[in-house]
Amino acid sequence: MFKTVILAVMAFNLVYDLTMRLLSVRQKKKPLPENVRDIYEEKEYARWRGYSAEKSRAGLVSTLADFVLGLLLFGTNVLSAVYYALPGGEYAKSVLLMLLYAAFLTLWSIPYEYYVTMRIEGKYGFNKTGRKTFVTDTITNFLVNSVVNLALMCFAMFMFEKMGAKFFLVLYAFIAVFMLAVNMLSMTFMRLFNKFTPLPDGSLRDRLVKMFRDAGYELSDIRVMDASRRTTKVNAFCTGLGKFKKIALYDNLVDNYTEEEIAAVFAHELAHFKHRDTAKMTAYNLFTMAALTAMIAAFALIPQISMDYGFADVNFAFAIAALTGVLLTPVMTVLQIPAAFFGRRYEYRADRMAAELGYGDAMVTVLKKLTRDNFADLNPHPVIVALEHNHPTVSARIKNIMD
Ligand SMILES: [Zn+2]
Repeated sequence: MFKTVILAVMAFNLVYDLTMRLLSVRQKKKPLPENVRDIYEEKEYARWRGYSAEKSRAGLVSTLADFVLGLLLFGTNVLSAVYYALPGGEYAKSVLLMLLYAAFLTLWSIPYEYYVTMRIEGKYGFNKTGRKTFVTDTITNFLVNSVVNLALMCFAMFMFEKMGAKFFLVLYAFIAVFMLAVNMLSMTFMRLFNKFTPLPDGSLRDRLVKMFRDAGYELSDIRVMDASRRTTKVNAFCTGLGKFKKIALYDNLVDNYTEEEIAAVFAHELAHFKHRDTAKMTAYNLFTMAALTAMIAAFALIPQISMDYGFADVNFAFAIAALTGVLLTPVMTVLQIPAAFFGRRYEYRADRMAAELGYGDAMVTVLKKLTRDNFADLNPHPVIVALEHNHPTVSARIKNIMD
């Protein structure tokens, strides 16, 4: 019975993915909204279309290949067959199964990743990754994922043995604390990988300090981060509890944007801050994590799920494989819909606040520049936006500011 459920979920994932792809292909034939036609030059836009068509063809092949792999792994009892052929006790077998599974998945995805990063992105000139970096990145990802999954699995196995069902409260608390700690320490982590230099005195600094003071905050620290070593992307962020705030700007922003435009970005960020938008999103993520914990609990409390796949009892390696490989996708798809809806509303509100502070025009230029720098889609399908995008389209944002 549970095998049928898992196969049905796989079929749902496939149909959903194919539907989104179809919508997206059809949308590309539609004319662009009036207010974004000047973002790309005609030649540049033709290049964007070529890029996105190539990426979507590669994505389609990968979706179908993943579906075939899913049928092989979850349509048969191959995982339990491998498990019982492995040496050692329960823990050794589980750890080895998990590692083999992750290694196999990584190998399976290499052709696609290589083709997209090295061929397509290379051809269109975004790729800063050399062949050597590609290899190290692949290995690093494999190791990080394996360590996280193995830690989760061993913790779950051990604690479930000791505490039974009560253990899921402990697991949830553990995940929640971990998530909050990562959130609060994100600036500290970034300090490990980047250099932060104080923004020099001058009109930009004065302007930001005044803007924050008018809103009731004190800026304790304004720093510039050397992001250009890794990326061409542009970003700015704001941290700090209570009245005293710290802000950091990517050097790409300071170097390529005018003072007026940088101030507009901060007027927008300030609005997110005032309305605690980030805190609300974190709260929602905690709720999402509860759903994940509940799913692990379901595997632990219903041994029949593992037994349908040829295991003698509950198997946590199998549970994590099935969760990450099949079951998490549709749950996240559904849970992201309300998050995306509120995310878009927060963006509109923040843009309007920037406009109210007198940065409407600058914000429009910033949006256009950002779109160009990130080579973003000017006209995604409305259904895809509603289901998946936590930012409104550029066209909708410009319209929201201008009205
Ligand atoms: Zn925003």
